[in-house]
Amino acid sequence: MSDAQHTSSASPAHTRGAGDRDRIRSIAIVGGGTAGWLAASMLARALPGTGTVITVIESPEIGTVGVGEATIPPIIDLLKFLSIDEADFVRNTQATYKLGIQFTDWRRLGHTYWHPFGTFGAAINRRPFHHWWHKARAAGLPLRFNDFSVCACLAEEDKFRFPDNDPASAASGLRYALHFDAVLVAKYLRAYAERLGVTRIERTVAGATVRQDGFLSALQFADNSVLSADLYIDCSGFRGVLIEQVLHTGYLDWTALLPCDRAVAFPTPLASSRHPYTRSLARTAGWQWQIPLQSRRGNGYVYSSAHCSDERALEDLLSATGHKPLAEPRFLRFVTGRRKLYWNRNCVALGLASGFLEPLESTSIHLVTSGVFHLLEHFPDTAFDQRNIDSYNRELIEENERIRDFLVLHYCLTQRDDTPLWRYCRSMAIPDSLRERIELFTGTGRIRPLAGELFTDLSWFYILEGLGARPRSHDPLLDVVPVSQLGEILVSIARSNAAVAKAAPLHDSYFSPAAMSHGRTSTAS
Ligand SMILES: Cc1cc2nc3c(=O)[nH]c(=O)nc-3n(C[C@H](O)[C@H](O)[C@H](O)COP(=O)(O)OP(=O)(O)OC[C@H]3O[C@@H](n4cnc5c(N)ncnc54)[C@H](O)[C@@H]3O)c2cc1C
Repeated sequence: MSDAQHTSSASPAHTRGAGDRDRIRSIAIVGGGTAGWLAASMLARALPGTGTVITVIESPEIGTVGVGEATIPPIIDLLKFLSIDEADFVRNTQATYKLGIQFTDWRRLGHTYWHPFGTFGAAINRRPFHHWWHKARAAGLPLRFNDFSVCACLAEEDKFRFPDNDPASAASGLRYALHFDAVLVAKYLRAYAERLGVTRIERTVAGATVRQDGFLSALQFADNSVLSADLYIDCSGFRGVLIEQVLHTGYLDWTALLPCDRAVAFPTPLASSRHPYTRSLARTAGWQWQIPLQSRRGNGYVYSSAHCSDERALEDLLSATGHKPLAEPRFLRFVTGRRKLYWNRNCVALGLASGFLEPLESTSIHLVTSGVFHLLEHFPDTAFDQRNIDSYNRELIEENERIRDFLVLHYCLTQRDDTPLWRYCRSMAIPDSLRERIELFTGTGRIRPLAGELFTDLSWFYILEGLGARPRSHDPLLDVVPVSQLGEILVSIARSNAAVAKAAPLHDSYFSPAAMSHGRTSTAS
């Protein structure tokens, strides 16, 4: 498209000084979903006073996915980074608190296990508690998993409290995240970013002009206007308007490892108390989520189209929820995988434009945040040093592949063989990186965390333990503590956690009109 009607530039030449000609002066973010506004907010917060012009382009014709409702604890750090008042955010996004995930029917029908946040037991002799757990079980000591996680203790009683700053308190090991309305979050972040000077324009990107060296030189809009920037961030969702449609970066398809490729979602009335955790229930052809917000419940069925039709999935979800939907069911299609490059030339893809890992561990919004933090660590100048771009790509590929392995673990160790999907999952080929981890654990009880990995050894332990993987032996360094002494330590940890849960308020109490008008501290102490 060469005959532009209006030409605007987000990079006014008069703002450039002689000494900083190579600085990034303008950033164009294509997409105003959660990823676009999150990126805009974080960049505006990180680049104040640099004169960098940030523009978000939202299409008035193309909607957002808007179904991301569950998060993980780094969301709280993100709010701190943005200096956003958490109570205000909670009030405005219909948010509730999340202490972990409860998995039902994943190992076998009728079985439930937890992936709680926060600490598990306590390190004894500087050895992580999960090693002591194996020793205690081998010695026949009475063990109940939830007794050793303060988050699981609270969750199973539908209670919630904030962490205690006193390291001596069992509540100091508590971590939490949020459930929220993703549409309200995008709206909240938009207002935040606009206050920090981000410009928003409503246009549909029809294409982009590309320089001879393959770098993007300008966005072309459907109304024939154009906009040029130094750095382009593609947050356009699954279609990847720049990273794929213009730059043809390529996509690695991981469907063979994570076979769910569809979802149907709708809200229902709350109907019962708001549980402070995400429920994940394995179904015949995938799994169902239940997420309580302040005034409704989010429901979804993530399923494999090779094993279930859309009609059947909707029927199953309707009968499982047992309530009339409050809105039209939304069907979503996705291909699990990643772009071959997250950063290609002067274009960085974030959010669904960069790839997708199904929402089993609520990682997508976190990955947007992580992508922006990595971008800040690798913030380029207009020379776009290829080694810098390669380093960014290496780190993000590593992060995504580790999370992919973690998700695959949830499926591949299932003992279910009652439906074709679960039989497939039991026998599918898994990545060597995952196979080696499972073998190290079953041989020695060890889980070696890798540098920069999102899910810690504890998270890996929860899923391995929950799915029934058992190590043949426990750490030999544990032999110095006799079983009787270990038994006493276990009783004391369980007592402390139970006391925290007993004293904590019900999760629901945080959302009474009085509590909401006073903010978190009125009910949190
Ligand atoms: C079933 C499902 C469940 C999920 N659950 C969770 C969860 O629990 N937790 C979590 O963290 N994440 C979850 N996610 C992921 C989460 O929804 C996304 O990561 C998040 O919403 C970010 O989406 P996005 O902004 O990348 O894309 P979108 O929401 O698709 O936004 C794309 C934006 O790009 C714009 N756009 C598109 N094309 C153009 C164009 N040509 N010109 C201009 N603008 C354009 C659109 O107007 C829109 O503003 C889930 C995803 C799915 C599919």
